[in-house]
Amino acid sequence: MRLGSKWFFFLICLLVLFVLLQTLFLFVWKMSFGFSSFLALCFALPFAFLYVRFALLGRIRILTHRTRESAAGLFATQSQVFPDDEWGELSRAVSDLYGQLKKEMDKVSGENEYCRAILAGMAEGVLLLNERGRTLMANDTAQKLLGISEKIRDKTTLEIIRDVQLEQAVQDILGGGAAKTFELSLPAFSKGFEETVFEVNVAPISPSKGESAARRVNGAIVVFHDISRLKDLERIRKDFVANVSHELRTPLTSIKGYTETLLDGAWKEEVALQFIQVIERHTDRLIKIVEDLLTLSKIESQGFRLRMEDIGVLEWIDNALNEVRERAAKKNISLPVSGVSPSLHAKGDRDYLEQVLLNLLDNAIKYTEEAGKIEISAIEKKDSGEILFQVRDNGIGIPREDLSRIFERFYRVDKGRSKEMGGTGLGLSIVKHIVMAHGGRVWAESQPGKGSTFYFTLRQTPNSQYKT
Ligand code: ADP
Repeated sequence: MRLGSKWFFFLICLLVLFVLLQTLFLFVWKMSFGFSSFLALCFALPFAFLYVRFALLGRIRILTHRTRESAAGLFATQSQVFPDDEWGELSRAVSDLYGQLKKEMDKVSGENEYCRAILAGMAEGVLLLNERGRTLMANDTAQKLLGISEKIRDKTTLEIIRDVQLEQAVQDILGGGAAKTFELSLPAFSKGFEETVFEVNVAPISPSKGESAARRVNGAIVVFHDISRLKDLERIRKDFVANVSHELRTPLTSIKGYTETLLDGAWKEEVALQFIQVIERHTDRLIKIVEDLLTLSKIESQGFRLRMEDIGVLEWIDNALNEVRERAAKKNISLPVSGVSPSLHAKGDRDYLEQVLLNLLDNAIKYTEEAGKIEISAIEKKDSGEILFQVRDNGIGIPREDLSRIFERFYRVDKGRSKEMGGTGLGLSIVKHIVMAHGGRVWAESQPGKGSTFYFTLRQTPNSQYKT
């Protein structure tokens, strides 16, 4: 409060009190004018002083104090009790104002918290830039995806990400350009990918309604969507379509060639039977490829369900061996079974698991020379509750560099040899998918020229020990 107004209140109070008291002394107590004036002044002076000092200024000070508190963010929680006069009303109005202000500030800080939570929970990386293209903040995902630290405040995107295309897009936006979306490849920061591919959206932050319209943009927001997985899936899909087309085209071309030759008159000649046999072989091959593809797509389909049952491991191995025994005998290959306890039981889908063993045995026979040996064993892993199966051959083996890829669709170490043996390149892929659908793992070890061992695991039936 200014000094002048304090004196003004004091003089008003003094004047009012003086006139009242002097009137009292003059007319009620009949004192002389001089004496009544002197007495009135003596009483009025201290009363006016005390009234202004405590009753008026005191309240104003309380109001000032509370206003200062509120300015510092310390809102009084208890409202002061004021008399029912104008001062009381003023203080209540100020009190209401505080309340309103506090509510607004709570709302703003609540909204801030929401924004922070949304940014923190986003799967996309977000960079916020000011009107000079310098970073204001980056959410956790951006820091993780881009491999950047928290010390990025006030840096340009070029300093953080070192990509000219991105920096150019930001500058365009800050210059008033429209929002942009483009793809950006950066060295991978997540496991399993050589590079991370982002779909990047750069958009302007427009000034809010109240702000001056002198500036067209207040900054830019950059959103990074990691689309590496999508890109990878797209590449796998394209490779798959190309592979299938290639695999189908070869036998179809042969069938068409031989059929045309037959139609051109060769059916009358001796070679006709040979041609028809070739057509039959290629047709069988086509059927096998389509069957294998159907099996794979069935396992991968959403509604795929295994019919889980309790399977006696020894009986299951015997059934599979019976299927291949004749083929093995033709190459004089022995098929010993070792270490399989008759009480061992696994949990799985009998038909699919039989296919696993058949595919592995089939390969082992195909890629093992005459008089070789294919050994099957099943070891109980008590600690993990798993059974470890091994199909070991002493065949041609698999080079080290191919080992990690043989479970891929259509991957063959020796294309010519596989086709010659009637292989589709899908057998191991089917094995992998079936074992994985059972919650197991599959892998291979091999030494070229010495042989290969294929391993897979299945869950044991809990009380298999008691089943005999
Ligand atoms: P294929 O129908 O060609 O046998 P698979 O998916 O069953 O296809 O096998 C993929 C490739 O892995 C085969 O082409 C072969 O090169 C290699 N392979 C699989 N099993 C064996 C094995 N027991 N010994 C040597 N190579 C094998």
